[in-house]
Amino acid sequence: MDVTKNRGAPPGVIVKGIPASSGIAIGKAYLLDAQYFCLLRQLIAPEEIEDEIIRFRGAVDTAQQEINSIREGALEDVPGDLPILLLDTHAQILKDPTLIREIEENIRKEKHNAEWALKTVLEEYNAKFSRIRDGYFRDRLLDIKSAVERLQRNLIRSEEEGASLVEPVILVAHDLTPADTLKLDTRKVLGIATDAGGKTSHAGILAASMDIPAVVGLKTLANEIRTGDTLIVDGGAGVVVCNPSREQFLEYNSKRQKYLYVEKELHGQKDLEAKTLDGETIRIMANIESANDLAHIKEHGAEGVGLFRTEYLFLRSPSQPDEAEQYQDYRKVAEFLKGKEGVIRTFDLGGDKLASHAGNQWPEPNPALGLRAIRYSLAHVDMFKIQLRAILRASAHGNIKIMYPLITTLEELQEANAILAQAKEDLRKEGIPFKDPIKVGIMIETPSSVMIARELAANCDFFSIGTNDLIQYTMAIDRLNEKVAYLYQPLSPAILRMLQRVINAADEAGVEVSVCGKMAGDPVYALLLLGFGGVRELSMDPHSIPRMKKIIRSVRMEDARKMASQVGKMGSIMEIHDYVLQSVKSILGQDLTSDLFEDDI
Ligand code: PEP
Ligand code: MG
Repeated sequence: MDVTKNRGAPPGVIVKGIPASSGIAIGKAYLLDAQYFCLLRQLIAPEEIEDEIIRFRGAVDTAQQEINSIREGALEDVPGDLPILLLDTHAQILKDPTLIREIEENIRKEKHNAEWALKTVLEEYNAKFSRIRDGYFRDRLLDIKSAVERLQRNLIRSEEEGASLVEPVILVAHDLTPADTLKLDTRKVLGIATDAGGKTSHAGILAASMDIPAVVGLKTLANEIRTGDTLIVDGGAGVVVCNPSREQFLEYNSKRQKYLYVEKELHGQKDLEAKTLDGETIRIMANIESANDLAHIKEHGAEGVGLFRTEYLFLRSPSQPDEAEQYQDYRKVAEFLKGKEGVIRTFDLGGDKLASHAGNQWPEPNPALGLRAIRYSLAHVDMFKIQLRAILRASAHGNIKIMYPLITTLEELQEANAILAQAKEDLRKEGIPFKDPIKVGIMIETPSSVMIARELAANCDFFSIGTNDLIQYTMAIDRLNEKVAYLYQPLSPAILRMLQRVINAADEAGVEVSVCGKMAGDPVYALLLLGFGGVRELSMDPHSIPRMKKIIRSVRMEDARKMASQVGKMGSIMEIHDYVLQSVKSILGQDLTSDLFEDDI
């Protein structure tokens, strides 16, 4: 199959996006269309057309079977007729002869692969229906869209890994979901550039954990690029250069060399303690997404795991991971850390991280504000209990702590703790060992939890501030939406005052407080966080660790405190921004600033 050519980008154009994962990649572009999923646009040869139609019909059959089995389950579990009616509507759409004919015609005439034919036909429906004002027709369009997406998912699954890349490339896509990103073969992906996404979107977080430079929020790049174009992805600066001139190539190549040189130097010092010049030690921990990341954290000098995002076990696995499977993974973490701390966060499922086998039949209109994280776990107590049992059992093998994500009310924390107590009781009765007492903490990620931090602190052992979500929910911005990404402002006085408030509450209650959102791994923000007092642990993607340790070893805590106290008096983002950048430069000195920051700050 030939990959269809796009128009191609004019030479030398620099597109500004949002930095998501640092490093510089130079290579050939490979265009994916992942507006819905990891869609690949391909032209098929005439002799392949009938096979493609058979593949398409197979996906329709699978979708019908899926709907039947969900329908049977829903008849037992879900109250009311609405879900059943919805499923029946989807089943009808998939039998609709006009729709099927249009898709097959597209495959035959345009020689599109089935995924692309579905996308094209759906876009035609979109254009037709959007001209009709009647709400009934708009609802029908949503039904058609859901049914078509089910087909696309089945087609992609049947393709196993989607496109198998032969040589390393820079992936360009409208969007990459966490599940798409997990499928990437890291040996074949030099860099990532996506139109959608904000600084803390999960595709960016995963790219950072895989050490792949990434720029997100590029808005329309995927429309301008064709497969085979040469691209430079500068993940630190958040820019993509299309078909660079010789001068641009030389400029970025030398920037890349310098970056690699500094990385190598930092790597040599990765195991040194992060102790400030005036003698305060900060624990630098790693965020991981799988037990497979453990070797990686050692390589970067982490002093433990501050956040294990366990929901990725779900996203990776074709079926719901059972207790034994989870226990194996958590135990690996406990044993690997040899007495150092490992914080296992219970599933943060929901939002954009909902595996299809975890009940994703009826997508929510507002996933970020929906049944996510602890809410999801409390709504699926059996599943939650299995996870707690697996974590408890692993705790017998090392220094494990439990953490609940997205706590919003005291009642949620108490309910989760009650389920934990039951899980402990069951294990005790079964004679299965676990660590008791085990430390239990919560993520502070909502303004609500900030306001009731004192009460929450009385019911748990530690706080970890999830700044990615705290910023999302405080600034009222979907963290995946590039259109409002400009409001991702860690230096907003609203955010800084929240942080100070939580740190004070933790201090008064005597509970430990760490930070595990992206802010913790950013050299500019981290100094401010430490300056607020109380935070003695930062957890970040492993790649950022050696640099952060070096920065901490080069500063005096007293200077960080002075900076934080000045900032507390300021009310504008710009004022704080200018002041903080100036202060960081003068605290670190010119040489270190230019070595440690990829770009002029
Ligand atoms: C956060 O919200 O800051 C966080 C660390 O959790 P996640 O990025 O997984 O939502
Ligand atoms: Mg979060």
